Amino acid sequence: IVSVEHVFKSYRRGSQTVPVLEDITLAIGRGEYLALMGPSGSGKSTLLNLIAGLDRPNSGAIMVEGVDITSLQESDLAHWRAGSVGFIFQFYNLIPVLTAFENVELPLLLTRLSKRERREHVLTALSLVDLADRMDHYPRQLSGGQQQRVAIARAVVTDPALLVADEPTGDLDRKSAAAVLDLMDQLNQELGKTIILVTHDPSAAKRARRLQFLDKGVLSDAPQDTL
Ligand code: ATP
Ligand code: MG
Repeated sequence: IVSVEHVFKSYRRGSQTVPVLEDITLAIGRGEYLALMGPSGSGKSTLLNLIAGLDRPNSGAIMVEGVDITSLQESDLAHWRAGSVGFIFQFYNLIPVLTAFENVELPLLLTRLSKRERREHVLTALSLVDLADRMDHYPRQLSGGQQQRVAIARAVVTDPALLVADEPTGDLDRKSAAAVLDLMDQLNQELGKTIILVTHDPSAAKRARRLQFLDKGVLSDAPQDTL
């Protein structure tokens, strides 16, 4: 479902060009659950953002479900993102002035669904994360774990095939983290979502069925029993 081909990415820092990813090639099959680990600053978030179409590589191609997202115009890319990929971040990124319901509804405002249809989709997603009873709460009225579950509902409400999660348990206590990881297992196993999980936590990475290690811009296969 994802094919990263000879991708290079560098950032400009002042007058210098700092290489971050060097010739990354990676194929991820539909329904796979991949964990990406590596030291801080090794480029994990950069790679995830490229795959999710939040940023563009300097060279190389990224195909997702047969679409070469590196060749899309900015407006087409934004449209592609809204329907094709769900994001889960470390700090949830919920909009504080919107309720849980409204946060989850946001990605649907870009679709042609009627208000009633949107409501059905939002309630289905909130039920999946077991928070339908909190739909009128604002983020500040929810615990960190609950906020992350709302963020997961928002990520899946458009039913994308691909989910990317950047340290989704990095800011959570053990119990809330386990609940989030259980939910991701369920999304992978029951709903067939393809998941890419960036994490520093070996116990989180163990949930995945494949592990890749990124160091100094170079990707390598890591056997899961190294965890
Ligand atoms: P962490 O584990 O700390 O989250 P990471 O592996 O996700 O690290 P990235 O965030 O991908 O690392 O960053 C890789 C390198 O690219 C770092 O040296 C970082 O400073 C640099 N970098 C990331 N984003 C930008 C940016 N927008 N502009 C300039 N440099 C950046
Ligand atoms: Mg990162």
